[in-house]
Amino acid sequence: MIGWPDASTLFGWIFAITFLGVACWEAWRPSRAAIASLTLRWFGNIALFAMALLMTWLIPLLSSLSAAVIAAQRGWGLFHLVTLPPAITLAASFVLLDFFGYWMHRLLHKIPLLWRLHALHHSDTDLDVTTTIRHHPAEALVQALCDAALVLLFGFPPQAVLLYGGVVLVVQTFHHGNVMLPARLGWLSRWLITPDLHRLHHSMAYAENNSNFGNSVPLWDWLFATLRLAPEGEFKVGLAEFSGAKFQRLDKLLIQPLLVVPNPRPPS
Ligand SMILES: [Zn+2]
Ligand SMILES: [Zn+2]
Repeated sequence: MIGWPDASTLFGWIFAITFLGVACWEAWRPSRAAIASLTLRWFGNIALFAMALLMTWLIPLLSSLSAAVIAAQRGWGLFHLVTLPPAITLAASFVLLDFFGYWMHRLLHKIPLLWRLHALHHSDTDLDVTTTIRHHPAEALVQALCDAALVLLFGFPPQAVLLYGGVVLVVQTFHHGNVMLPARLGWLSRWLITPDLHRLHHSMAYAENNSNFGNSVPLWDWLFATLRLAPEGEFKVGLAEFSGAKFQRLDKLLIQPLLVVPNPRPPS
């Protein structure tokens, strides 16, 4: 049987291959022309990712997978208190993790302190595969703590946490891509958060970036009335207060939470 370290490595490879595949797709047929220097943006976004990786390496217990392994060993959490067929536990865990992922994302926009951290993901002036990994280390820390607490509370099995994390990472890498799906695949947006849907979440317009919060499927946005299918007017990516190239330098990215305009911002 495949062990957790092997499975983590496997998902690392799947992510790397998806990342490279989307990067090649963008280079071959980009959906939108770049505004800022690609070198500057990629350096900043990849450096932020390296910091998040370093943090999980230094504090391995911070990962939701570690929390799931501990919960399984000690019998902690709801799913270890009830006996359900493994397939039902796996499916229910998957649905709950996605549901809480949606609401966590809404809170990141709603609570001013959390928005200060999450705004860095939205201040990218272009949207491409590296935006997937553009998160402030402080946001990554808060997210990891919340994920671990949720896993301990519900006792999601390690298989479910690993499978969900892997699937969501692949979907997120795909939907941040600066790519255009062929028209004949338009139906995909009904079942999956596609680049067309997630691009709207990165809109400079307040109403648009407060829509399409889903991680993998548009179900929760549809249920809670935050689904948006098309822009209302001229479409721009990013945040107005950080639209210049100078804000994309790594040092500026790291101090950006101190300069963020509080959210909710008034509709313009
Ligand atoms: Zn967001
Ligand atoms: Zn995004």
